[in-house]
Amino acid sequence: MERELYTARLARKDCISEQAQCYHFEFVLDQLERFPFTAGQFVSAVANDANGKQQTRAYSLASAAHGNRFDLCVNRVEEGFFSNHLADLPDLPIGATIQVHGPHGHFILQDPVTDSILVATGTGVAPMRGYTQWLFPADGPDRSNGKDIWLVYGTRYESDIYYQEEFEALARRKPNFHYLPTLSRAQESWTGLRGYVQDHVARIVEERAARLGLPLPQPAPDPSIPRNELRFDICAYICGLNEMVASTRERLSAFGWHRKQIVFERYD
Ligand SMILES: Cc1cc2nc3c(=O)[nH]c(=O)nc-3n(C[C@H](O)[C@H](O)[C@H](O)COP(=O)(O)OP(=O)(O)OC[C@H]3O[C@@H](n4cnc5c(N)ncnc54)[C@H](O)[C@@H]3O)c2cc1C
Repeated sequence: MERELYTARLARKDCISEQAQCYHFEFVLDQLERFPFTAGQFVSAVANDANGKQQTRAYSLASAAHGNRFDLCVNRVEEGFFSNHLADLPDLPIGATIQVHGPHGHFILQDPVTDSILVATGTGVAPMRGYTQWLFPADGPDRSNGKDIWLVYGTRYESDIYYQEEFEALARRKPNFHYLPTLSRAQESWTGLRGYVQDHVARIVEERAARLGLPLPQPAPDPSIPRNELRFDICAYICGLNEMVASTRERLSAFGWHRKQIVFERYD
């Protein structure tokens, strides 16, 4: 079946890291009044390459649904077609367009919201920004139900901590939002966390279990409970390149975490 293609007009483009060549984009769908989606989903962007061949790539929505607009966060991939096509969209005059279909995907928060560890590297932060906008709207009721939400964000350098000020401001506003950026190649002057996301995720799980008096590894669920009725009080949402996603899943599985507690999206 042909999917409906929408024309998305570029309304804003900011380079948010020169070093990583990462861009924040804001698009408007002028033909729609509303573009409904669930935070964490993606759009498929479609364009013809230099040989006239149609190319399609997925890009996570980097915002929660708001009217007929959506945000993306994309970094240039060396020799890649689509990421460079987007990064080269002319920002002045505003008005360049792209074609998209969607929303698609199942990388969404469990309902009801549980304690959640959001784990991202690089542009994998895009759906996490969508989640946090939905959980903690600036102009509406809080949807976090007081659950603890950790965002563990890994990158190499301080210059590549995308949306840092936004997340820091949110952490100041919401005591149950814990923002943990960690650098794998930090300069000496960096006073924050160092190392890989997996290690910080493991520490959060261990400290939480100790604080709540829960056993680790976590006992397996009662086998008589059907899978769709299983309920957990904490979940992890992991997004980024496969290597990080795989090793974070492995660490959580070693704590006895059930597959249903670990939701992930791989970009490669
Ligand atoms: C569900 C989903 C959501 C995604 N969301 C985003 C997003 O929000 N932001 C974003 O920047 N990308 C995202 N991606 C990746 C995106 O779809 C493209 O793969 C990426 O932009 C590269 O496309 P390209 O045409 O430039 O490179 P291609 O010509 O397709 O690939 C060039 C090479 O780079 C490798 N590669 C692919 N992606 C990456 C990457 N991110 N970093 C390093 N190497 C890579 C490929 O394996 C390939 O070998 C997402 C992917 C999926 C599956």
